Amino acid sequence: MSNSFHADVRDRLGAINEQNLLRTRRVVEPLGQGRCRIEGRELWDFSSNDYHGFSLHPVIQSAAIKAIEQYGVGARASVLISGWTPAHQELSDALRNFESVGDILLCSSGYVACQGSIDSLVNEDDLIFCDRLNHACLIDGCRLSKAKLRIYRHEDLTTLRRELKKSQSEKVRRWIVTETVFGMDGTLAPLIELMQLAEEFDAYLICDEAHATGVYGSCGQGVIAQLREQGDLTAELIERRIPIRIGTLSKALGSQGGFVASSAETIQLLWNTSRPLMFSTGLSIAACAAATAAIEQLQEHPQKISSLRNSASQFRRHLKDSGFEVWGEENSPIIPVVLWDEERTMSWAKELEAQGYLIGAIRPPTVPNGTARLRISLSSAHSEELIENLIIALRALQTKTAEKT
Ligand SMILES: *Cc1c(COP(=O)(O)O)cnc(C)c1O
Repeated sequence: MSNSFHADVRDRLGAINEQNLLRTRRVVEPLGQGRCRIEGRELWDFSSNDYHGFSLHPVIQSAAIKAIEQYGVGARASVLISGWTPAHQELSDALRNFESVGDILLCSSGYVACQGSIDSLVNEDDLIFCDRLNHACLIDGCRLSKAKLRIYRHEDLTTLRRELKKSQSEKVRRWIVTETVFGMDGTLAPLIELMQLAEEFDAYLICDEAHATGVYGSCGQGVIAQLREQGDLTAELIERRIPIRIGTLSKALGSQGGFVASSAETIQLLWNTSRPLMFSTGLSIAACAAATAAIEQLQEHPQKISSLRNSASQFRRHLKDSGFEVWGEENSPIIPVVLWDEERTMSWAKELEAQGYLIGAIRPPTVPNGTARLRISLSSAHSEELIENLIIALRALQTKTAEKT
């Protein structure tokens, strides 16, 4: 490697490019109704996490505009100084009620909510068990905490149990860190089994509901709430074993920011110890007001959630019937069509875009090597007819690829 900084940058970029892993960004103009415009062309957008189209929902937009007019754009200071406005209090109240918890921590992103709260709550001499597919912010939080880290294969309960058992003689505090919906796979964490293990080996769970907020539970409170509603987990067990749940305002809620739901005492400790909170400006006022309005929308129109999940399961079934390798939970709107190969994934995404569909091509290091995929992300705005057309386009690519090989 060269000593020169610029030569080093060039070398590294070259290496990334050679592996077909170079990422670029483009200007994407969101148009609403599941559409966007790129370089003058209108496309159907199957790539965003805006599952209900809330980022362009008129009621939510007006709430954000009104709050800006009333209180300004930015929060102007850290929350602990003077950056906690009435818009922050309103959002915090709405989330506390929505999540049925003691208190809420508001953060400028879901990333920071995860990283900062794990770093702050897990002690150096604790032991963390972490699913290999956990989001980067969870892994970063674990590393920052300096606790001992055991990574287990995705949802591999046998290994997890063995590792927990091995640690039984150690006098340490144990944590299991997991997403509840895995964002690149659309799989649900085996929470019931994880809770049983937590009980058996005296461990705590940290659950990241980023892709579950607004998608699971009767009003979108997440997977844990859904399991409680179904009677699979009791409120008492949840309180004993899941001290914190983390969510995002940036995906289904269509706004920006993250939150931690926990007891009033734990939240107070986080406000006092989580570095990205203490040393960063509060969430923007528009983001707060939009998220508050989005929660109201979910509470007033919970059928949005069931209809999204129904169309997801229909779509998934059609794809599987057509012979595609589709991963994930039956009714998750994250629909990964696994093509294995990076080059093929990129060329399919390009071809689909030429036909009017914008779909995320996901490659390593976002996903493990050899599991490149198209990540189709469904929104309530996509009609049945549109989805059928997309399936036809995918089938045509499948036939073309089969003929070539
Ligand atoms: C998207 C995501 C985050 C980060 O949330 P942001 O609000 O976008 O920063 C955290 N955890 C998981 C599992 C995610 O999918």
